[in-house]
Amino acid sequence: MAGIRVENIVKLFGRVKALNGVSLEVRDQEFVVLLGPSGCGKTTLLRIIAGLEHAESGRVFIGDRDVTALPPRSRKIAMVFQNYAVFPHLTVFENIAFGLRMQKALPERLRAQVERAATLMHIENLLERYPAQLSGGQRQRVAVARALAVEPEVLLMDEPLSNLDALLRLEMRAELKRLLAESRTTTLYVTHDQVEAMSLADRIAVMNAGRVVQYDEPMKVYQEPADTFVGGFIGSPPMNFLRLPVEGSQARIQSLTLELPSSPPGKDVLLGVRPEDLEAHLEPQPQSFPARVLVVEPLGSHLLLTLAYEQQQLKVTVPPDFAAKSGQTLWLRPQPGRLRWLDPASGQSLT
Ligand code: ATP
Repeated sequence: MAGIRVENIVKLFGRVKALNGVSLEVRDQEFVVLLGPSGCGKTTLLRIIAGLEHAESGRVFIGDRDVTALPPRSRKIAMVFQNYAVFPHLTVFENIAFGLRMQKALPERLRAQVERAATLMHIENLLERYPAQLSGGQRQRVAVARALAVEPEVLLMDEPLSNLDALLRLEMRAELKRLLAESRTTTLYVTHDQVEAMSLADRIAVMNAGRVVQYDEPMKVYQEPADTFVGGFIGSPPMNFLRLPVEGSQARIQSLTLELPSSPPGKDVLLGVRPEDLEAHLEPQPQSFPARVLVVEPLGSHLLLTLAYEQQQLKVTVPPDFAAKSGQTLWLRPQPGRLRWLDPASGQSLT
């Protein structure tokens, strides 16, 4: 097996700069998710690594091999696409065997490899069936088994769960995590679903407008976003950003002052704080500031509150039995150690 390394990839489609100098390293056996909004270049990067698309400049390595000039079949990669096209006229066995037949694998190796991949995906008792006789989740596993059967050095997956309905998607997410952990294949996985990314990844590469803007472990991306884009894209509801005036080395929210890690370039600073990191109280508290409740949304496991602080809005989550009514003033205490400070001009984190 092997890792993946891309260096300085630039890709143009006419005048559209789909990738604007992307470098990324995926370690051997690591599961990395490329996450970003529609059009940010995720699929293009995957297709360049697969050799299905050629970059204007930059290099692609799989293990120690520079594969930049190699055709897809010589790269030792396997790819699972969004529509996980399984062949309807072939049995599950023949679907999984497809890549091996293309490689002209000997019958014994072919059978062993198909059985190994099918066992890994827990579909070894379905080998004689046709795709029409399978559930969506089982078809999905056939597609992954077919990719793994050729023993690729790396597995590339492009939104493989997006054609499944919401419930099945949730189930397959956990399944896929378990099954791929067993296979230990280096995997690069594309999604625009931040929950899927958080759930599956060893590391997440967050992309925006043809660049990787942050590359970190999921909790780090969640708790320490590099900029307002990442903080706003990851988390539902997203991170709050409050614009506050700076006084010396402190930011002020009414009578509450908060120490800044470094002095920001401008007169104002952005406080980035997650909805669960603002503790709500009915009475004034030390280290808190007042905000008025605009909307209360009961979501079962918690209440989602929308509040107004001066002209700005905030989202806060509280336990389901919290007595909040619209129009009421609550006192919000930011949890120390969970606050991000960003420059309002650039959107970049100050730390
Ligand atoms: P999505 O989540 O919607 O699939 P993505 O992040 O995978 O989006 P890409 O498909 O990589 O995005 O596209 C990146 C940019 O390149 C977009 O602006 C897209 O319109 C453009 N693009 C992609 N493929 C082509 C093509 N074959 N010809 C012209 N432009 C293209």
